[in-house]
Amino acid sequence: MKSWKLEPLSDRRQTKEDNTFIGGKPKLPPDMPLPRCRLCGKELTFFFQVAFPQGHKWEKKSMAVFYCVEQWHDQYCIPELPHGPGLNKVDVTTDFLTQYQRNFQVLVFDTEKAVPVEDYQEKVAFRSITITQEDKTDGRWDMVMGGRPIWIMGQPEKPASVAGDKKPVLLLQVREDFKFPILPDAPKEADPFFPAKVSPFSWYNLFAGNRIYFWGGQGQEEEWVYVSVQK
Ligand SMILES: [Zn+2]
Repeated sequence: MKSWKLEPLSDRRQTKEDNTFIGGKPKLPPDMPLPRCRLCGKELTFFFQVAFPQGHKWEKKSMAVFYCVEQWHDQYCIPELPHGPGLNKVDVTTDFLTQYQRNFQVLVFDTEKAVPVEDYQEKVAFRSITITQEDKTDGRWDMVMGGRPIWIMGQPEKPASVAGDKKPVLLLQVREDFKFPILPDAPKEADPFFPAKVSPFSWYNLFAGNRIYFWGGQGQEEEWVYVSVQK
């Protein structure tokens, strides 16, 4: 598939027209509730969302990503791996997909139905994103839609299937060590490796700063997203 380079900018405020952005208030269909952490019950933090552009296999769809920052969930700081000999040989089943999003949630919806969630308390600072179509994929880009996977551990880990779809689509990659700057009054991210058990930094990491791969599978009635990481 073609690739689209996504460039985050801190150039302006959020508007109702933004469909691809980091932080600020999420934009969701009115009947879609804000997700909560299934492990600690706290409201998940909105990180970013992307609207897939014309020419993308998921065009007219959007994907929004939420993650629990207020509590450290040790073994789940990165997404659970399905059992099997290696991810590139594994079928990621709908049974697995319905339960593996515990301390994070990836929501998929029709872009045209989404409206800003006005009562969401912003934590990640808003950044606009510009999208440029490219004929290559560069591992230095912060985010890329489509294109080819950049494997940083050497071995390919494309799942054999997602929700029965034997041709899962590489929806998006987020570069390793990509940081999400937060607002001054946002809580610091829970992190057991600091004495105060919270990060001293004014940004959040998503999935412990791994490179993140979002895989899309077309099920019989709905779209599914499987998230894998490498570091
Ligand atoms: Zn939690």
